[in-house]
Amino acid sequence: MSTFDGVNPCRPGFGASCSFCCGSHNYRLSREDIEETFIKRGDGEGENSRVHPEKSLFKKLVEEGMQCCHVGFADSENGTVSCLVYHEDVSGSEMEVFFTGTCKTFLCEAWKELSDREILFAAELMQDWYYYSLLINSPDVLLELYAEYGEPGNVPEDVLENLQDELSDRIQEMI
Ligand code: SF4
Ligand code: SF4
Repeated sequence: MSTFDGVNPCRPGFGASCSFCCGSHNYRLSREDIEETFIKRGDGEGENSRVHPEKSLFKKLVEEGMQCCHVGFADSENGTVSCLVYHEDVSGSEMEVFFTGTCKTFLCEAWKELSDREILFAAELMQDWYYYSLLINSPDVLLELYAEYGEPGNVPEDVLENLQDELSDRIQEMI
């Protein structure tokens, strides 16, 4: 299990990051188009910071899933995905209850079920926001991979490519 003073699955290092629970993958857009949207938001072209997180702007893969309009790249240079309003004062806005009751307290299964070593393995293997998020949210796949290879450097290139394809295919079922 991860802890707040150990590895943070949302920001584990190695260039990996995650906003999956906020709906980072729930778009009927290509990865490139999603990233363009994230860059624009990070550059200040996003929604007003007090817009409710359940408001979405694009067609979703899964209608009942999140697609929060505050997910973006805080720094487009390193492509780290994050909540762009996490440190804002939203008191008095329509999002206050959801923000304080859910956004500030939610921990996914990766926090509860994965060890620091397993999270770091996923982070070093993928080093991005897209596949890393999918891998830690597919614990069956991650644990099998970790058991077989132990270190990211031991994963053959063709295995990695097949894994990335498999994770992309899983998005429809996961969100
Ligand atoms: S899905 Fe888990 S690791 Fe990813 S942003 Fe949400 S809480 Fe963090
Ligand atoms: S406001 Fe931030 S933490 Fe809440 S759903 Fe949106 S991106 Fe996630």
